Amino acid sequence: MDLGSLTIDGVRSAIQERKVTAASFAEAHYAKIASDDPQIGAYLALSKDRAMGKAAEIDALAAKGDQLPPLAGVPVGIKDVMVTRGVTTTAGSKILGNYLPPYDCTAVARLEAAGAVVLGKLNCDEFAMGSSNENSAWKPVRNPRDLSRVPGGSSGGAAAAVAANMAVATLGSDTGGSIRQPASFCGVVGLKPTYGRVSRYGLIAFASSLDHIGPFGRNVKDTALVLQTMAGRDAMDSTSADIPVPDYVAEMGKPVKGLKIGIAKEYLGEGLDGEVRAATEAAVQKLARLGCEIVEVSLPHTKYAVPAYYIVATAEASSNLARFDGVRYGFRAAGVRSLSEMYRRSRDQGFGAEVKRRIMLGTYALSAGYYDAYYLKAQKVRTLLTRDFEEAFKSVDAIVTPTSPTAAFKLGEKVDDPLAMYLADIYTVTANLAGIPGISVPCGETRDKLPIGMQILGRHFDEAMILRVAGAFEKAA
Ligand code: GLN
Repeated sequence: MDLGSLTIDGVRSAIQERKVTAASFAEAHYAKIASDDPQIGAYLALSKDRAMGKAAEIDALAAKGDQLPPLAGVPVGIKDVMVTRGVTTTAGSKILGNYLPPYDCTAVARLEAAGAVVLGKLNCDEFAMGSSNENSAWKPVRNPRDLSRVPGGSSGGAAAAVAANMAVATLGSDTGGSIRQPASFCGVVGLKPTYGRVSRYGLIAFASSLDHIGPFGRNVKDTALVLQTMAGRDAMDSTSADIPVPDYVAEMGKPVKGLKIGIAKEYLGEGLDGEVRAATEAAVQKLARLGCEIVEVSLPHTKYAVPAYYIVATAEASSNLARFDGVRYGFRAAGVRSLSEMYRRSRDQGFGAEVKRRIMLGTYALSAGYYDAYYLKAQKVRTLLTRDFEEAFKSVDAIVTPTSPTAAFKLGEKVDDPLAMYLADIYTVTANLAGIPGISVPCGETRDKLPIGMQILGRHFDEAMILRVAGAFEKAA
């Protein structure tokens, strides 16, 4: 079975026509994981009983000749920050090393209800904090295109699993770029929807006002199909929006001729690698040849996005992570003599260095006397960034940027320099601060054959537009 050529529709129709069973698709993926994942490190846990049970259900439907649901029999993987009932969920952290959730994340439940087969849980940076997957408490993930390089992060396992044919599609989370950047590093498609489009119920919180769940796929249409099944209001998440969900695949079919595509000079300046710039410019030319009108726009507050993001994200993280105290979940330090020592030791031994750094930064930014100088100011910057986009989207339908300033870097290259790691998030954090949707699509390769991704940003709740532009570009490329 050529796993690399499988798409969602391909899997579903093969099962529907009874050419291949859902069970054998799942088995073939487990065999691939057994042979290749020891080198890559994408999976943290496999949920084989659950997967084979679901596959059997789908095969029974097919045997009866019933019309199969949209994701029927599609082998998927889930980033380990989404809770799965009875399947260990660690968020890449030792502090949740033995956590068995009693319920399912809404996004996962909706995927399964649409027929998807959940193979297992995917490696990530601890609590989704990182850009290289080197902050996982368990093991790093390696980039399937070059094992000496990182897959990006924090959803490194979710990107690598699709790139290495160990899942047809996966779910990741994106707080500051964690879906789009690893998608670009691994040569797959990754989409961050609008804030509120997909329920966050059951997503282990990093920074609640910035966190999003979204899909990875081998092509644009697969991400549209997965988004379709997850999107829409969920009574369990009060921030999920009650806004109609369009038919994304139908929207993707619309022509792009005459659309206005914005290019922002702030995203093409200092720090951008020459090969990434050339690939982005060539991609823009391709869109122009498809009949899009290219318009220059300005997003003047972009230079403040990284500092604002690292204040807001760490502030919210310091508050969200207060619940991990050795009492309610997971890990508890042994040999302690008092309650406060138990809290301190459990947190000291349970959290990794990057998570501790962020808790300290966030606690500082929120403390009396500093709140106005840091947190309040960052929130004001956030408003200015949102207005930049509102202004730009008055004259364009979508904005094209590089996804990341460079292609995948080497393991170990940036671990000792957290600031360099943070600064590379420049093109992705803005969409989280503004809450707008963004997608990363492969748009070329470096001389070393490393994938390059371009990012397409859209108006709030206009995922249909970015899917349409991404789909047309993919077809032309
Ligand atoms: N790299 C960013 C960070 O470390 C984004 C992470 C994410 O989107 N979860 O915070």
